[in-house]
Amino acid sequence: MKLRVDIDMCTGHGRCYALAPDVFGADDFGHCEILVPDVEGDLLEQAKIGVENCPEQAIGFTEDDSEATGVEPSAESTRRAQD
Ligand code: SF4
Repeated sequence: MKLRVDIDMCTGHGRCYALAPDVFGADDFGHCEILVPDVEGDLLEQAKIGVENCPEQAIGFTEDDSEATGVEPSAESTRRAQD
């Protein structure tokens, strides 16, 4: 299942990467970075916990590959999965 983050909605609470550190990380500003854009198995379970605990609803799942997001070095507000 693919993950997406809306970086404009993320306020950097850090709950996602505190609760699901194998799936979510933090950029230099404490905002969410998706470490594993396509999760399954144990990582999917961890991702669900992170998604459910984001107070801003900034992260979620998507069926659309074009909405999946991953880590990129740029500070663009929309990040796309690396294939
Ligand atoms: S995605 Fe949500 S929980 Fe994670 S840092 Fe952003 S606001 Fe916080």
